[in-house]
Amino acid sequence: TEDIPVSELALNPRRGGPKNLPIADYFVDDDDCPEMREIKHKPKLVILGTGWGSVALMKQLNPGDYHVTVISPSNHFLFTPMLPSATVGTLELRSLVEPIRRIVRRVHGHFLKAMAEDVDFSEKLVEVSAISPDGEKKHFYVPYDKLIVGVGCVTNSHGVKGLEHCHFLKDISDARLIRNAVIRNLEHACLPTTSDDERRRLLSFVISGGGPTGVEFAAELFDMLNEDLGKFFPKILRNEISVHVIQSRSHILNTYDQALSEFAEKHFAHDQVDIQTNSRVKEVQADKLIYSQKDEDGKVITKEIPMGFCLWSTGVSQTNFCKKLADKLEGQNNKHALETDTHLRLNGAPLGDVYAIGDCSTVQNNVSDHIISFLRTTAWERGKDPEKLHISYSDWRGVAKRVKQRFPQASDHLRRLDKLFAQYDKDQSGTLDFGELRELLVQIDSKLTSLPATAQRAHQQGQYLGRKFNKIAQAAPGMQLNEVDYGDLDDAVYKAFEYKHLGSLAYIGNAAIFDINGHGWSGGLLAVYLWRSVYFAQSVSFRTRCLLAMDWSKRALFGRDLMNF
Ligand code: FAD
Repeated sequence: TEDIPVSELALNPRRGGPKNLPIADYFVDDDDCPEMREIKHKPKLVILGTGWGSVALMKQLNPGDYHVTVISPSNHFLFTPMLPSATVGTLELRSLVEPIRRIVRRVHGHFLKAMAEDVDFSEKLVEVSAISPDGEKKHFYVPYDKLIVGVGCVTNSHGVKGLEHCHFLKDISDARLIRNAVIRNLEHACLPTTSDDERRRLLSFVISGGGPTGVEFAAELFDMLNEDLGKFFPKILRNEISVHVIQSRSHILNTYDQALSEFAEKHFAHDQVDIQTNSRVKEVQADKLIYSQKDEDGKVITKEIPMGFCLWSTGVSQTNFCKKLADKLEGQNNKHALETDTHLRLNGAPLGDVYAIGDCSTVQNNVSDHIISFLRTTAWERGKDPEKLHISYSDWRGVAKRVKQRFPQASDHLRRLDKLFAQYDKDQSGTLDFGELRELLVQIDSKLTSLPATAQRAHQQGQYLGRKFNKIAQAAPGMQLNEVDYGDLDDAVYKAFEYKHLGSLAYIGNAAIFDINGHGWSGGLLAVYLWRSVYFAQSVSFRTRCLLAMDWSKRALFGRDLMNF
């Protein structure tokens, strides 16, 4: 591919679409290159976003089958699972990113560093904006035959006041800002002009959100404070530093097996990381965080923590671009993500034209219907009244295990259902309250319609679409997509998407936990090496693997780089 000439983008003088904007058509002016000559006439595949979903799709796609255009404000792919390690200098920022143009080149595609603003579904045009070096924003259209929306999501503010005083951890630039802020606080704490109270405040680190990102950041921060602080900041006493995790649920890592979240809590308690459960942040101020907490009697009390740093990591919500698409399409009822059918086609858009993958999307999946129908069938097979849902506890355990494997994010609700069934089992002659069960199942469904917002899911969906598009290209070689009813082709050439949950892992500070197919495992150093090996193997390229290995060796030999730039 090295010899293939760089293709040119030309803004066709043609204008059009609902806003009469220039329409960017790509053409390849080097007709001596056979691949390019061919691609020019292939169906236009436009991919929005350069995250896990889009990259998996590009890696799966057969080069030359489509005329690929990738549009994203990020010209890199970010390996997010190791991002918390980059916030405290365990890993370098550049070791986690791969230039997107390397990946796009594989499919002989084009990359545009720009934002998708809107889509005109009837004319098959994506409205795109790009900011020129002098700060001017220019809008134009990019035409598509097939469009993939893989734009991810944004951090959920939950309407809490004062988030301007918080840091977020979504992108590589966030990790750089966090690293600078943490080191700035340590440096300020050492100044002779800093009072004792001020020093304690600067060294109070608060993490709002006890999910995997918040927990892994707390663990990395704790490691750094423990391992490098004594060496490089001898003036700071260990007992002046505090790390707090504020979690709204009753456990941290609540999507993991309960035994594992309890293990993580004990591990943190041993390391004196303060975990505040059943707590909701009400407001963040420049120097303190105010939250409410439910005590054991259910009474809500308001508390506050003076702090010098706050990470906001409390879940995700939809981007403005996705909200705009959802508003104009029928069949989009989910407030948190774009709804697709099981072939990942965007509900409400012309069939087979537009797909949505990864964090920005959700697959319609009425799991509660499956559970009810399974329970009913079992009751019926046993000669019991299906409406009364007579089912043994062990039958229920079988169902629950299967559901949890596929939908780990519903663990909390499954636990509540489990209690309900355990109660029923004690009283074999009783009937299970159908209304209560249904209510719980509805709650499960609202959780389950959104598959977990993980790299694992985005990656599987990207791979799935890549495979399907390869099949479509083989099924109809030389086709003009506009002339074919592609909705039918999707169904004909490939099966529906099915998510396979391969397990979850988390680093908790010189220890790691693994939740794989319902089997939990936790451990110290051995688990940490295993955790590293998994991500090392999954890292996107040989280049990033070399960089990761160098960073780990550098840290072992010289400690972390505690400098801010
Ligand atoms: P993303 O990877 O978020 O990519 C979205 C892309 O769209 C970006 O390139 C963005 O620039 C681009 N974009 C945004 N708006 C537009 C627009 N309007 N037009 C064009 N492009 C746009 N998951 C795991 O499975 N395991 C983990 O251990 C794990 N750890 C994580 C740690 C951290 C710190 C974070 C933040 C996330 C972690 N995740 C993990 C979650 C995982 O990163 C996401 O689920 C995954 O990135 C989703 O992939 P995606 O392709 O949907 O979106």
